[in-house]
Amino acid sequence: MARFPLPPGATIGILGGGQLGRMLAQAAARLGFDVVVLDPQDNSPAGRVARGQIVAPWDDPTALTVLGEVSDVVTFEFENVPAGAVERLAAAGAEVAPGPTALAIAQDRVDEKTYLNAVGAPTVPFAEIDCADDLAPAIARIGLPALLKTRREGYDGRGQVWIRDAAEAEAAFAAIGGRPAILEARAEFVRELSVIAARGRDGATAVYPLGHNTHAEGILRTTVAPAEVSDELDEMARAIAANILEGFDYVGVMGIELFELADGTLLVNEIAPRVHNTGHWTQDGCACDQFEQHIRAVAGWPLGPTAAHARVEMTNLLGAEAHDWPVIAAEPDARLHLYGKADARPGRKMGHVNRVKALG
Ligand code: AMP
Repeated sequence: MARFPLPPGATIGILGGGQLGRMLAQAAARLGFDVVVLDPQDNSPAGRVARGQIVAPWDDPTALTVLGEVSDVVTFEFENVPAGAVERLAAAGAEVAPGPTALAIAQDRVDEKTYLNAVGAPTVPFAEIDCADDLAPAIARIGLPALLKTRREGYDGRGQVWIRDAAEAEAAFAAIGGRPAILEARAEFVRELSVIAARGRDGATAVYPLGHNTHAEGILRTTVAPAEVSDELDEMARAIAANILEGFDYVGVMGIELFELADGTLLVNEIAPRVHNTGHWTQDGCACDQFEQHIRAVAGWPLGPTAAHARVEMTNLLGAEAHDWPVIAAEPDARLHLYGKADARPGRKMGHVNRVKALG
């Protein structure tokens, strides 16, 4: 049984071998930990910087047993890891952080919004859609336009269709595969913001300054942080984050996506029970970035400081944009982070650049 705080030399298991796992592994190594990654893809971005990688499907019972046995604590970087796999690990006696509940709830958009509302985190009005017959009463209650999203496994804008006219509803449902869905009222947002928050094993919370995000075709392009927000808005975001984390008895870092409305209030769009793309700015804007913070939390260490010492504009490098690395590397204020992916497919997250400016 692991004893917390874990001492340097302990092993951290990570479910998922993508770029988030890679940057977690790099932070863990800096604190003296070893990392073992489980991912179905051989030679994954995280596996290549870890002590080892187990190559197996997420739900392979033998692989999960081995990961649990070699790790003092297991965490995850990929939110579509089957919650059942994490539950099995925890049931077998492995220390898992965050716990399986937050993962299971965040995987289902209806459960997620129901949870958020229950802990006092406001969202858009929504309705559960199980079959085409549910659409008309849902539209009558929520109004149009409304956004139809698959309940599960949608990300980066996939599995989502706008309904502007009731006559389009059935076609929209067919377009998302006729799968269980959620119908969401349109958020009339003026900005998309996000907050990265952490909770330690002792229940302490730490919240980073807000980021201001821009998306294109459903994919994050830039985060500027700290975002220019009023003290009231900052307080509101911190209170929302604290409620969400405490409700789960959460341990680790969570990304919380927010809509800022014209009246200065906030709605929660969605939560990710892991380190988050909109928190990459912390690598070059804060003394303790989100990756180290997550490792500290799951290892039972005290949380690190979250204040910003610089203003950062984070830009994702998608597909062939990563080929610009020689130009970016020559910029004096640019910090380049590449994920070691060979195949620069269009839209694929290959790296990011943090452009660092003085706080002003
Ligand atoms: P999601 O996959 O839920 O993060 O949605 C992707 C993007 O779609 C968000 O970043 C928003 O730009 C937009 N979006 C999602 N839900 C809504 C909504 N209810 N109202 C307006 N825009 C939305």
